[in-house]
Amino acid sequence: MQVLKTIEELQNIRKEIKGTVGFVPTMGALHNGHISLIKKAREENEIVVVSIFVNPTQFLPGEDLDKYPRKDEADKKICQMCKVDYVFMPEISTMYSKEEVLVKAPNKSYVLEGKTRPGHFDGVLQVVLKLFNLVQPTNAYFGKKDAQQLSLIQQMVENFFLPINIIPCDIVRESDGLAMSSRNVYLDEQQRKDALLISKSLYFAASLIGKNELKSDVIKNKMLETMNILDVEYVAIVDRQFNEINEVVKGNTIILVVAKLGNTRLLDNIWI
Ligand code: AMP
Repeated sequence: MQVLKTIEELQNIRKEIKGTVGFVPTMGALHNGHISLIKKAREENEIVVVSIFVNPTQFLPGEDLDKYPRKDEADKKICQMCKVDYVFMPEISTMYSKEEVLVKAPNKSYVLEGKTRPGHFDGVLQVVLKLFNLVQPTNAYFGKKDAQQLSLIQQMVENFFLPINIIPCDIVRESDGLAMSSRNVYLDEQQRKDALLISKSLYFAASLIGKNELKSDVIKNKMLETMNILDVEYVAIVDRQFNEINEVVKGNTIILVVAKLGNTRLLDNIWI
């Protein structure tokens, strides 16, 4: 495995690669969620590239950019164990110049995550486009956990005619149901217990739908009841294009929850 820091190193190596390239972009502090993406990339491609870059442009002022967990050495070991070929770990100054041509996410990026974090997805798309241009992957792997991000990246690939397959990957959970996240380390013992209500409410919603309760309002209210001790930012029921829907359509619905545990925002969802 080679660790690459500069654009030049990466571009020189990319020029020599002839086979399929699987790419997993991450912000590091790797956990089993990331590892599942890397394993899938390993199975499906000749060469695997992982990027580890805490991208400043997707954090809003006052968010956790400075305290976002950084575990470079442990991350490298994990990549090595997963038989990654190249880990790209650039500095901020390597990725960004002073004033840039910007990618602007579409208006629908200003709902849900984008409502609380306006501009967040502009930063995500900006860095992902740069990384795509550098790595030129055949297949790029993204978690369904960040469902809105996944949908916007799929749209960017379509809109900019990028010759890249976007591969959605299932959410990996702790054994008790909590969706894995690099931010889970911020939770204290009580918050960690309370956080379980998020995945429980999603499973509850799935069970209601299994009993043919399809009305979004009814499902949302029942979910909120199960999470009444939490500071829930939103529960949303959307189709795969992220339009809010009044009735669940099986095979084309995502139910999303965002809740704050202290200062930590946790997001989770279930695909119906
Ligand atoms: P991040 O490092 O948080 O930017 O995440 C990098 C990639 O890993 C994104 O595509 C995420 O959606 C994905 N990811 C994060 N957590 C999980 C999880 N629990 N299960 C599956 N994918 C995940």
